[in-house]
Amino acid sequence: MYKRKLYLFYSSIILLIGLVIYGCDTHLDTTFQITPTPYKTKNIVVVMIDGARYSETWGHPEKAYIPNQASKLATKGIINQEFYNFGNTQTISGHTATITGVYELMNNNGLQYPSYPSFMQYWLAATQNPPEKAWIITAKEKLSVLANSSNVDWRNSFLPLVDALDRLDVDTYQRIKEVMTHEQPNLLFINLSGPDLAGHQNNWESYLQNILIADSLLNKIVTLVDSLPHYRNQTTLFMTNDHGRHLDGIASGFKDHGDLCHGCTHINFFAYGPDFHSNLIIRNQLREQIDIVPTIGVLLGFKTKQTTGNVMTELFK
Ligand SMILES: [Zn+2]
Ligand SMILES: [Zn+2]
Repeated sequence: MYKRKLYLFYSSIILLIGLVIYGCDTHLDTTFQITPTPYKTKNIVVVMIDGARYSETWGHPEKAYIPNQASKLATKGIINQEFYNFGNTQTISGHTATITGVYELMNNNGLQYPSYPSFMQYWLAATQNPPEKAWIITAKEKLSVLANSSNVDWRNSFLPLVDALDRLDVDTYQRIKEVMTHEQPNLLFINLSGPDLAGHQNNWESYLQNILIADSLLNKIVTLVDSLPHYRNQTTLFMTNDHGRHLDGIASGFKDHGDLCHGCTHINFFAYGPDFHSNLIIRNQLREQIDIVPTIGVLLGFKTKQTTGNVMTELFK
């Protein structure tokens, strides 16, 4: 008789714990939902061109190393001439600010997950879509940390797929093309690393050449967006840099980066999509990396609760 009572007691405790866990789970699901928007955007592509300094991109007098952005792309979309990384100007911190919408000083060797969820995690939680609907494809292996978060509510939950390898940008582009053609994710976060690697090698000619290559690959990605039915007329693309490089005369000049000099913080910004203006150059609206995530949240109709950035309302038609 005593054993039976004990059994009933333990059974009810287990049932109670089960109910509490189930209750919490349901609560989490309803916190993240998609709300209908008036926008046409169904997909987001973010392209990070690693470590190209503004003075060699849009800030160059003849824009000699970004011929595609200077002509065709600028006509299709928007350039903001006052765009910044106001956080730490190292690679992982710059990418983290752009993918989470929060500045955070990160270990730059890929030994630490961001403390905040990415826009991909917010979206995967809100839509309950499978992981393959969001991809991170990078030309630096250490950037695989962007796919997860150390936050207890998000760690190992709602993770995008990640393909992060040290490789040439042209090879990264081939992977992007395969994934866009066959997997057709809704969200894509891309890193091209050529300009940064050549800069650290202190090779000026190669640095410029790699900015030209990144510009041509950006144009190819835009061409994919415009030609694949899954993306055409329903995709918004953002392009920026994780950081610039020191101005000439500061520390080691273009070879390195990482402080708060104007060369390191001032970066390039291009965006285009069915809900944005075209052929617009913004000259007097200061914006920064952390503003991209809240803008994506508005376009796709999900809450980006922990971001500290602002929605870039001036981009919208
Ligand atoms: Zn970098
Ligand atoms: Zn600097």
